[in-house]
Amino acid sequence: MQEITSNNPLIKNQLFGHPTGLYVLFLTEMWERFSFYGMRAILTLYLVAKTTNENSGLGWSNMEALKLYGWYTMFVYLMSIPGGYIADKFLGQKKAVMYGGFLLIAGHTILAFQDMWSFYTGLVLIILGVGMLKPNISTMVGGLYQKGDIRRDKGFTIFYIGINIGAFLSSIIVGFVGEKIGWHYGFALAGIGMAFGMLIYYFGQPYLKEVGNFIGNSNKETDKKVLNKPLTKIEKDRVIVLLLSFLLVVIFWGAYEQAGGLLNLYALEKTNRVFMGIEVPASWFQSLAAFFIIIIGTSVARYWANRKLKGKNASSIFKMLTGLIIMGIGFLFMSAASIQFEKEGSSAMYWLVLAYLFHVFGELSLSPVALSFITKLAPVKYASIMMGVYFAMTGIGNKLAGLLGESASRYGEFSIFTGIAVFCILFGLLVMLFRKKLDDLTHGAEDEEEYLIKNKKYV
Ligand code: GLN
Repeated sequence: MQEITSNNPLIKNQLFGHPTGLYVLFLTEMWERFSFYGMRAILTLYLVAKTTNENSGLGWSNMEALKLYGWYTMFVYLMSIPGGYIADKFLGQKKAVMYGGFLLIAGHTILAFQDMWSFYTGLVLIILGVGMLKPNISTMVGGLYQKGDIRRDKGFTIFYIGINIGAFLSSIIVGFVGEKIGWHYGFALAGIGMAFGMLIYYFGQPYLKEVGNFIGNSNKETDKKVLNKPLTKIEKDRVIVLLLSFLLVVIFWGAYEQAGGLLNLYALEKTNRVFMGIEVPASWFQSLAAFFIIIIGTSVARYWANRKLKGKNASSIFKMLTGLIIMGIGFLFMSAASIQFEKEGSSAMYWLVLAYLFHVFGELSLSPVALSFITKLAPVKYASIMMGVYFAMTGIGNKLAGLLGESASRYGEFSIFTGIAVFCILFGLLVMLFRKKLDDLTHGAEDEEEYLIKNKKYV
C-alpha cells in the first residue's frame, strides 16, 4: 500500500512506512511497561513472602496483599486524569512524559531499599509517574499522524506490540530475578529498565520535535483565539461518543483483567499443567497474552485495515464492540474448562490457551483502537485529559475485575466465567444495534480515511 505523506510536515522522517518518532515512543513505552509489569509481577509475591525466608518478604496474608494490589492497579491508572490535565494545562505531553519517567526511575530505585517507608514512597512515586507518562505518551503517538491518515490505527498497534514486548520480557526476567535472587534486585532491575526508556526518549527528541508541545503558550494570536473558544456542537458530540465508548472499556477490562487473579489461580489449582512429562509453571500463562499480541498484532491490524479498504464497516465503535464480543466468547472456553473440572477433577491446558487467544483477538480490536479513536476525536485542548479519563476507566475495570474474581469463591468459577461471557456478548450485540447512531455522533471523524480511500489516495 502506498500512502500519501508528502503534505504532512511531521512525517518526513520515515522508517518502515511510519514516522520515525513512532519507534522512539515504541521503545520508551516498551521499557516503561517492562518496569511496570516487572514490578507488578513480583509485588504480591513479595508482600506474601515470609519474613523468615532467605529472600524475605513482608509476610502479609493473601487477602491483605490482594487488597493492596487492587488499590495499586486502580490508582496507577486513575492518576492518568491529573497526568493528562497537567499536560493540557501546563506542560504539554512531551515534558509530562519526561517528568513521569523521572518519577518512575525514582520510585523503582527507592523500592530497591528494604524499609517500609521506602516501600510506600516507592509505590506512590510509581503511581504518580505512570499517571504522568502513560496517557501522554499515548496521545503523542496520535500526534505523529495527520487527520485522515489510515496508518494511525496501525501505528497504535505497533506501539501496542512494543508495550507487550516489554510486558512479556519483564514478567520472565524481573520475575526470575525477584524470586530467585532477591525481591529488591527485581525492583532495581525494573528501575534500570525505565532508565533505558528515558535515555531512548531523551536521544530520540529530534524525531519528536512537532509532537507533544505545550499549545497553551502559543504566541500566535489566531491560535490563542481558536483554543479559547467554547466547544462546538460537533466537538461536544464527539466527546459524548468517546465517553459512551468508555463504558465498553470498563466492561472489557473488568472481564479481561481476570487474567492476573481468577484465571491465574485457576491455572495454579485446577488445571492439569503436565506437558510431555514436565509441569508447566502457572505463572507462564501470565505471559501468554503478551506473547500472542506480539505474534498476531500486525495481522489483526491488517485485517481491519483491509476491511476498511474494501469499503466494509470498520469504524472504531464497530471494532471495539467486536472486540468485546470476541473476548466474551473466550470466557466460554473457561466455562467448558470448569465443566471438565467438575467431571474429571482437573481441566486441560488448552482451554486456558484458547481463552487467552480469544482475549487477545478482542484486546487488539479494542485497546489500541480506543487509543487511536481518542486521538481522532478529542478536541485538541482536551486531548490529554480525554486519554487520562480513558486510562482511569481501565483502572476502574481493574478494580471491578478484582471484585468479580473474589466473588468466585461464593458463586463458583463456572457461574462467574459463564456470567462474564453472556454479559459481554449480549451487551456487545445490544450496543451493535445502536452503532449507527454512535458512529453518527463522530460527525465523520473517521470518514476522512474513507474519503482518501475512495479517491484512491491510498492504493
Ligand atoms: N495492557 C495494556 C498496557 O499496559 C493496556 C492497559 C490498560 O489500558 N489498562 O498498556
